[in-house]
Amino acid sequence: MTTARQLSAPVPPGGMIGILGGGQLGRMLALAAARLGLKAHIFSDVAEAPAFQVSDRHTVAAYDDRAALIDFAAHCDAITYEFENVPARTAAVLAGLKPTYPGARALAVAQDRLEEKTFLKSLGLGTAPFAAVSSVEEARAAFAALGSGPAVLKTRRLGYDGKGQAKVTSANDAAQAFEHFHGAASILESFVDFAFEASVIGARGIAGDFAAYDPPENQHEHHILKRSIVPGKLTGAEGDEAKAIARKVTEALGYVGVIGVELFVTAAGGLLVNEYAPRVHNSGHWTLDACAVSQFEQHIRCVAGWPLGDTARHSDAVMENILGEEAAGWQKLSASGGALHLYGKADIRPGRKMGHITFLSPRPRPR
Ligand code: AMP
Repeated sequence: MTTARQLSAPVPPGGMIGILGGGQLGRMLALAAARLGLKAHIFSDVAEAPAFQVSDRHTVAAYDDRAALIDFAAHCDAITYEFENVPARTAAVLAGLKPTYPGARALAVAQDRLEEKTFLKSLGLGTAPFAAVSSVEEARAAFAALGSGPAVLKTRRLGYDGKGQAKVTSANDAAQAFEHFHGAASILESFVDFAFEASVIGARGIAGDFAAYDPPENQHEHHILKRSIVPGKLTGAEGDEAKAIARKVTEALGYVGVIGVELFVTAAGGLLVNEYAPRVHNSGHWTLDACAVSQFEQHIRCVAGWPLGDTARHSDAVMENILGEEAAGWQKLSASGGALHLYGKADIRPGRKMGHITFLSPRPRPR
């Protein structure tokens, strides 16, 4: 195995940041890089990716196209990605050529729900009770082991926004859901009757320093994030506890970059970690308009070896995702007084993230 390259000095203005993935997150990362005088080179397997519109260079190739990856790395000073399902081999090839952040371990753990939950538990963090499922018999046994309450069967790999998930209320249900997933290795988790959902957008710099934004409260509709509210209900000591969780996760992973840690908050105020995203996160989009340094710039700073920026919030914020057909109402949205962000996607599809809008109220709170 080749050793992962590390930055020996910050990437200076004019330098090139490679970004794997060309969706809206890549686009907003490229824009943030541009603000710092850095350039972005996007690598995507999609011919017309939204991030291409705002970047200096792009490559269209499959993520396992070794020659294309080598050529891409040759143009970059440091590399990152905007999605967590980057194939491990792709990440390994790039990391052997140029500093690539976050590192391989952060990716590998996040790509497998069983490994992820086991890792979180090993840090002493609260999670929903869970059990591994790799056969119909295990599906039944796992349901019994978790007690008789409702549970959620999730495929270990490649699930997002509720895909590859089924709520089950009996051992038979669990067995059927497992078959419905064509026997894909899965985990069964207890269904958490949470009071609300929240997240922490944290950042760990190359020197091991850490900073986090105030935790948003997140509201989902049809398993997709609809709204993030800051300040949400997770404030004061509970907010600090949430930030400490993100810090612990990043330290254990030797992480460099922005991380999104998703939390369930129980009625009793307990914090359970659902999962972490080794990248910038939808629930951090409000930072573009409510903070001097957004999550996107923060991530670029980390990847380029620059000091962390200030995470202070100068305004309260409500961020709403613009999903599918809602984008057709762009004229009304543009006159609504909110900070409108559209992602340059040509095709509207149901549930597709087309943009977001953030409403600010200028009420900075004492920290
Ligand atoms: P995930 O793909 O794990 O982020 O799940 C997507 C959404 O499904 C979460 O944001 C929750 O709203 C819901 N969800 C996932 N797991 C559970 C659980 N164990 N209990 C209750 N709701 C869940």
